[in-house]
Amino acid sequence: MSINPALFPDLIDTVALVIQQNAEEVTALDQAIGDGDHVFNLQRGIQALQEHRKEIAELDWPSAWQKIGTIVMAAIGGASGSLYATLFIHLHKHSQASNCDLNHFADAFVQAIEAVKQRGKADVGEKTMLDVWVPVAAALRQDVSAGKSVDAILDHLCQVAADGVEATRDMPATKGRASFLGERSVGHIDAGAKTAQLIIQAVAKVLAAQHSSV
Ligand code: ADP
Ligand code: MG
Repeated sequence: MSINPALFPDLIDTVALVIQQNAEEVTALDQAIGDGDHVFNLQRGIQALQEHRKEIAELDWPSAWQKIGTIVMAAIGGASGSLYATLFIHLHKHSQASNCDLNHFADAFVQAIEAVKQRGKADVGEKTMLDVWVPVAAALRQDVSAGKSVDAILDHLCQVAADGVEATRDMPATKGRASFLGERSVGHIDAGAKTAQLIIQAVAKVLAAQHSSV
């Protein structure tokens, strides 16, 4: 299966829609243990990406990631802005123009998530978006290596992401604003983990549709 920048407009619009459809729920999560601006932060970035959709679609694979990273860095405030910008800039650094197949993407993705961990000085178990992104990256790498079908991989990643979100509920937050609450953050799902899951769901939906149409 080929994933390439021509898919980005569809990916960006689908992410925008899914975030919009879940905006109230996610805002309530961020209000409970954060400052309530997470959806607004993401939507500013998504809107900026939508404004540049044509330009992004015409770039080669590494340049598209670089452009996305630069736009996100400028448009999204808060902790999530610099973390997502780091993710995309490192996808750029670890991508090669001629290699945007799933195997190379899996490698680049694992390395980009490592960079996000370093940027936020955080890891799994701290009640953040990493509780979704880290296991999803590991599952992608394993599933691609195991030669699973694209449909099976996408289903699995969605399941891993859902489990990651649910796991944040019982964790005390040790990073980000929610860490100010310490043990009082227990019992709440992390908003950034939830939006990471929503992004993965949206991407899986677009890739599954593209895959079944070829
Ligand atoms: P802010 O916390 O600055 O208001 P957002 O509300 O946009 O920024 O994003 C909050 C989300 O960012 C949290 O729900 C959490 O998932 C994630 N996050 C916060 N700090 C970190 C960190 N150090 N590493 C990874 N993710 C983090
Ligand atoms: Mg916030």
